[in-house]
Amino acid sequence: MANHLYDALFADREASDAPFLYLTDGTTLTHRAFTRIVGDLSITLSTHGVLPGDRVAAQVDKSPTALALYAACLRLGAVFLPLNTAYTDDEVGFFLADCEASILFCDPVRADALGEVAGRSGTHLVTLAEDGSGSWRNLSDRWLPPTVACGPDDLAAILYTSGTTGRPKGAMLSHDNLLSNARTLVELWGFTDTDTLLHALPVYHSHGLFVACNVCLLAGARMVYLPRFDTDAVVAALPGCTVMMGVPTFYTRLLAASTFTSETTAHMRLFISGSAPLLVQTQAAFETRTGHRILERYGLTETSMNTSNPLAGARKHGTVGRHLTGVELRLGPGDTDATGEIEVRGPNVFQGYWGLPDKTSEAFTPDGWFKTGDLGTIDADGYLTIVGRSKDLIISGGLNIYPKEIETILDAQPGVGESAVIGLPDPDFGERVVAVVTQAGDGSVEVDRLSDALADRLARFKHPRRIVVVENLPRNAMGKVQKRDLRDMAEKLGW
Ligand code: AMP
Repeated sequence: MANHLYDALFADREASDAPFLYLTDGTTLTHRAFTRIVGDLSITLSTHGVLPGDRVAAQVDKSPTALALYAACLRLGAVFLPLNTAYTDDEVGFFLADCEASILFCDPVRADALGEVAGRSGTHLVTLAEDGSGSWRNLSDRWLPPTVACGPDDLAAILYTSGTTGRPKGAMLSHDNLLSNARTLVELWGFTDTDTLLHALPVYHSHGLFVACNVCLLAGARMVYLPRFDTDAVVAALPGCTVMMGVPTFYTRLLAASTFTSETTAHMRLFISGSAPLLVQTQAAFETRTGHRILERYGLTETSMNTSNPLAGARKHGTVGRHLTGVELRLGPGDTDATGEIEVRGPNVFQGYWGLPDKTSEAFTPDGWFKTGDLGTIDADGYLTIVGRSKDLIISGGLNIYPKEIETILDAQPGVGESAVIGLPDPDFGERVVAVVTQAGDGSVEVDRLSDALADRLARFKHPRRIVVVENLPRNAMGKVQKRDLRDMAEKLGW
């Protein structure tokens, strides 16, 4: 029986001795060896009673086994739910309960704390460490369950993305949402089985998991699979690679290293950037140093990729290129005449937010286009430029931070009148988080206590670098806080 996505990505190469992953310890994992891990994980999942459609959560470090877990879920028709490793126990607890996860894979170090959290939602807990060890292996001598039949519309994954309300929403992605996008990207970016991708992205996010891995798997390409971005490791690995995908921070960090030269990149055919705006200055400096023009593309968790600059043809600095084949793009109402909210339609667009039919319908226009929340302009050649984010999303180091989530906690603290959280330009992370608060009537706000309150509740990457106390927040005639004015104040006052 056919399994729409698993067959396309994994099935053909199950018995291949061709290399798949080059690892930092100098070893190479073949497709056959990878398939063995997928089989072992399939046994673990079925022994825990995971059935087609069940949610399988994973908060684990990047490893070949973490990627094999994605494959095992697809193979069994389960829904993969990768979680950022920075999420706190409370945050993980929310996700498990929200999507009624059957099982959680977590790092052994966090087993005690997360065991308690998982228990509350009736979720089984197994451990999986970065080196592949863990309690998940204890069951690996049983019968290998067969691959489950899955159609194009069956769910493959749920990825949580925070909303403007601060409550994270699970974006449901089907087998065909992912496969159609991967097929388009393989074609567009010219991926073949002669490619080796430098993979330094996390695999809990759409960029590192779907854009990078699905494309390589579909094309039969190999990956230099690094646990995380480390400038020296990337510079050392680049001569053995042909393509790199990264967030803009990766490229600014490479440019800061004198060891990063045109010789390092001589063997490369393509550098791709996305997930956050790539500064034109970074583009120019990269081109001067290496002779390569970074290809910028644009997507969201809910849609995977929507637009891309071309492989051959003009890559326009400051734009994210044209709509992908099969993906329709238009501008809805926006700030000004030329600017509109970017709307997309196509086989890549997700199935809705898990358990939130109202939020799902709010996210679409009446005629069925997905409203991205990004503001853009389109030039005469059809190239899209992103000019802002109507949702006021902050992107720091390629990770999304929604101000509302932080503001809700700050607003509840004693001594705080109200708060506004903004992103300010940061040379390393792209943006950094700054919180602006007003005093409640008694004027007793304590900044240290506010930091402590956030530390317990939110992943570290969301913590404000600075908390500033002001008398009033700037507002417009409609009473809305003007974050643009706050950013101007921040620039003037050097926050
Ligand atoms: P995520 O759902 O984490 O993939 O984040 C999606 C958001 O990242 C989009 O709504 C955009 O605001 C932003 N984004 C993605 N790619 C780009 C890009 N190339 N330039 C500017 N912003 C981007």
